[in-house]
Amino acid sequence: ESKSRLKGGISGFEREMDGRYIEQQKLKADLREAVSAQALHLVFQPMFRADGARIECAEALARWVHPEKGSIPPDVFIRLAEEMGIISDITRFVLFKACSECMSWPDHIAVSVNLSARDLRDADILSVVADALAHSGLDAARLHLEVTESCLIDEPQAVRAILAELRARGITIAIDDFGTGFSSLSYLDTLPLDIVKIDRSFVRNIVEDTRRLKLLRGTVHLARELGLKIVIEGVETEEQLALLNKHRSTDLVQGYVFSQPVPSQNIPLLQQGIGRRPVQRRRNKV
Ligand code: C2E
Ligand code: MG
Ligand code: MG
Ligand code: MG
Repeated sequence: ESKSRLKGGISGFEREMDGRYIEQQKLKADLREAVSAQALHLVFQPMFRADGARIECAEALARWVHPEKGSIPPDVFIRLAEEMGIISDITRFVLFKACSECMSWPDHIAVSVNLSARDLRDADILSVVADALAHSGLDAARLHLEVTESCLIDEPQAVRAILAELRARGITIAIDDFGTGFSSLSYLDTLPLDIVKIDRSFVRNIVEDTRRLKLLRGTVHLARELGLKIVIEGVETEEQLALLNKHRSTDLVQGYVFSQPVPSQNIPLLQQGIGRRPVQRRRNKV
């Protein structure tokens, strides 16, 4: 029972706070139900080779269409799921689904799955990943896992051991949203990693602001020196893409300039479509 009601008088502010609290509780209950009913679905956003000539990987992105409220952004429901302690159920669902969808794509295309910090606190993730691979029949070499810098803060030693084990099994490890957390480039050297996904905030102003471009190029250069492969996220315009290619700043590009997230069955179609069109017009709006 809310405090305001006990006191008798309900101010507009208190009523609004109660309203929001109740709404949040309702959303959590609905999320719990959606997760247990496996009502979430996945879309996949391709990562293209920087010249646009081929899709190398596609990232699984969870979607939740709420029956009344419509589409709820993953930034919102993933955080809720973390708070509620049900993120591991989402991760399991996404892993199984993503691995089996990948089996229906051309062999050279890998699939990438996001892990949350919670997933890496628990060595159970090793058996969940093993089960998803076994169940789908997917080769470990076609599975990428994305972790963020925040995953590594809590128990760096335990997390490092889990990542090293996943990598020993042939899985590719990527650090996601790089540059938005607190860690420095020197930190990269100590982690079992293959790929750095540079956050889209680095790309946003590279055309207008040469200092931003320099920052991006410096970051890329250092990561490359450490033997890591580069993905640049959030490339939206032809101008940005041209600039990145002029400076050979990236291996892979993930962004609206090539494609938005699409249903699984569109991945082979996008791959097929490449080569039928000239490079400048290879812009996939689906
Ligand atoms: P992320 O892993 O960094 O995924 C990339 C996000 O950037 C996606 O947003 C994608 O749609 C968006 N994006 C890609 N290219 C562009 C672009 O050119 N411009 C702009 N403005 N945006 C672009 P989305 O799907 O809303 O996902 C947001 C975040 O939610 C993800 O960021 C990830 O952290 C989290 N997320 C999504 N699905 C899952 C999941 O299955 N598990 C976990 N743990 N997190 C997930
Ligand atoms: Mg990601
Ligand atoms: Mg990212
Ligand atoms: Mg993100």
